[in-house]
Amino acid sequence: MRCPFCANPETKVIDSRLIAEGSQVKRRRACQECEVRFTTFETVEISMPKIVKSNRARESFDEAKIRRGIDRALEKRPVSSEQVEMAIDRIKRRVQATSDREVDSQRLGEIVMSELKTLDPVAYVRFASVYKSFQDVAEFVSAVNEANE
Ligand SMILES: [Zn+2]
Repeated sequence: MRCPFCANPETKVIDSRLIAEGSQVKRRRACQECEVRFTTFETVEISMPKIVKSNRARESFDEAKIRRGIDRALEKRPVSSEQVEMAIDRIKRRVQATSDREVDSQRLGEIVMSELKTLDPVAYVRFASVYKSFQDVAEFVSAVNEANE
């Protein structure tokens, strides 16, 4: 990798470790020219399947929307943002493992709920009853957002 400071093409990896449950690699690099040290993060780029809503419309997998829903569900609960990020990583892997083309929003909702259950049983119980009366995860997420406003 090219040095971001002096543009020298030779940089040396001096440390490499797995983070976020192994889904990211964090590397310390040193430039062999100007000797500056910097950190890079490598993440696998996963192409997410389309989400099929209950009305059969397709929408893109929206990580930000899922994060907002989970954050809202966990408001004032003792769960760290790192735990939330790890849960979102697991959700993405599980959704991807279901299909790389299309996944029903109902299945997505089940995956999100099961991760929420692992993160915080109280938040899960609080929201599971609400979720069950919704058609899909998008509806659920907007309801959760409204409930917290
Ligand atoms: Zn340099």
